[in-house]
Amino acid sequence: METSQRSSILISIIVVLNIIVWMVLMSALGLGAMHLNDCPLQPYIPVYLLVIGATSIASLLLVYFINTLGPGMLSLLTSSCVILLQLFNLVWFLTGCVWVYSIFPLNYDATTGEKYCQRTIYLFAFWFNSLGSICMDNAQVRELVSKCMQARDRAYCPYSRFPVGAAILTAGGAIITGCNVENASYGLTVCAERTAIQRAVAEGHRKFTAIAVTCDIRDSFVGPCGACRQVLIEFGTDLVVYLTKPDGSYKETSLKELLPLPFSPAHLGK
Ligand SMILES: [Zn+2]
Repeated sequence: METSQRSSILISIIVVLNIIVWMVLMSALGLGAMHLNDCPLQPYIPVYLLVIGATSIASLLLVYFINTLGPGMLSLLTSSCVILLQLFNLVWFLTGCVWVYSIFPLNYDATTGEKYCQRTIYLFAFWFNSLGSICMDNAQVRELVSKCMQARDRAYCPYSRFPVGAAILTAGGAIITGCNVENASYGLTVCAERTAIQRAVAEGHRKFTAIAVTCDIRDSFVGPCGACRQVLIEFGTDLVVYLTKPDGSYKETSLKELLPLPFSPAHLGK
């Protein structure tokens, strides 16, 4: 596909996504204001939607404003406001999840008394939070995948010319990357997955939740070599593995699936 064609498709997708985000945020604001007193069982839900709608719109407007500014004090100040607003929004979103899910499922029938919440606002809040959580989850996977692709571009592979990138996600949410590093004495070559995990351990991480790996093969999803599977299992069997193609598409699998019946540290204690 031509680069210009690809970028115009990307711009159209961004415009459509922007319109959807604006519509959802305006609806949150409107529904929250309209039904402020219609959820006696959990009165925070309308307030939650009202506040998240308003603060998200304010943060979006500030981002547009930053784009019109050159570097300077004002730009720095506005960026700090955006970061603070987004941090607040994250905490507010998580609090909203507690309010919304704590009363699921409930009755939409006003005649049943205290179990009542207005149907539209409750369902809106429920789907807003559920889809929001999925998007946030997905955003982390996308970041992991994009970091492993960046790492592949730094591979040192003058002999095989087969660049590989890996990015490992720690339990604390940090992403550590690695690439293959070859050597004129071929046997000393280290794979990308092992570079990543060794860097992560050296930086003090011991628990991992996922790893993304990629190479230059376009037509199939390629997994880590056997040696790397063994090194990964040293730190637990519950690792999610994203096998990534150069175009950014990925297949989700797990270390358990890639290395069945493994030899692990647990066996040494028996
Ligand atoms: Zn390997």
